[in-house]
Amino acid sequence: MMDKDNQDIDKLKQEFIANASHELKTPVTSIQLAVETAISALENSEIEDAKRFMNQILQDSQRMTLLLSDLLDLSQLEVNNPEKELVSLNAIIDAEIGFLSNENKNRVVFESEDIEFLIDPSDFSMIIRNLLRNACNYSELDKEINIKLFKNESNVVLSVVDKGRGIATTDQERIFERFYRVDKGRSRSLGGTGIGLSIVKHAVERNGGVIELISQFGEGSEFKVIF
Ligand code: ADP
Repeated sequence: MMDKDNQDIDKLKQEFIANASHELKTPVTSIQLAVETAISALENSEIEDAKRFMNQILQDSQRMTLLLSDLLDLSQLEVNNPEKELVSLNAIIDAEIGFLSNENKNRVVFESEDIEFLIDPSDFSMIIRNLLRNACNYSELDKEINIKLFKNESNVVLSVVDKGRGIATTDQERIFERFYRVDKGRSRSLGGTGIGLSIVKHAVERNGGVIELISQFGEGSEFKVIF
């Protein structure tokens, strides 16, 4: 006999597999259709049309790569225990800023004292990478993004602030759930997978931290990680 907790976990797993399969099926279906259309365009020597469908295929495969790498991050968090090392948090943040596109890199302002901290470095990379990715995705290109890293008497605090669209109070609890998106169609077209924040929350908590969200709809958001 399964007890209630096991049944709940089982249901969550089933929901997760259903969601992940659906998210992967969408781009695969689109790729198949685009390949068929590109082939007939080529048969009719319609080169421009063929190019358009090739670009669609490229976009869909990039989407799948992003989703698969997020799923791998999530499974790494669930399967392996954190391996803490004393690392420079600044260096990890600088590296992640470096991976952004030039137009995003130029709008990130990062202020910090040098902070060394005992944490799983790969977990800290996932935290900053996903928060930064969201700040970029959900705010206009002409708006600044601020990263602050500081230490007070008892904690190390990382704060990522954007001046984007913000998150309504009713959505604030739910955005940390896997595959939850505020505006499903739009968030997907902005390139999100819907699991970024669940990765962040998991990575924060297994290193002994908490995550807080301060946001006002239409004004922007601050994600604050406290260790
Ligand atoms: P996604 O990959 O869709 O961005 P996340 O788990 O990272 O998934 O975030 C869940 C949802 O929370 C997003 O789809 C978006 O609606 C909302 N969200 C996350 N970060 C922000 C932000 N900085 N500003 C506004 N909305 C955000």
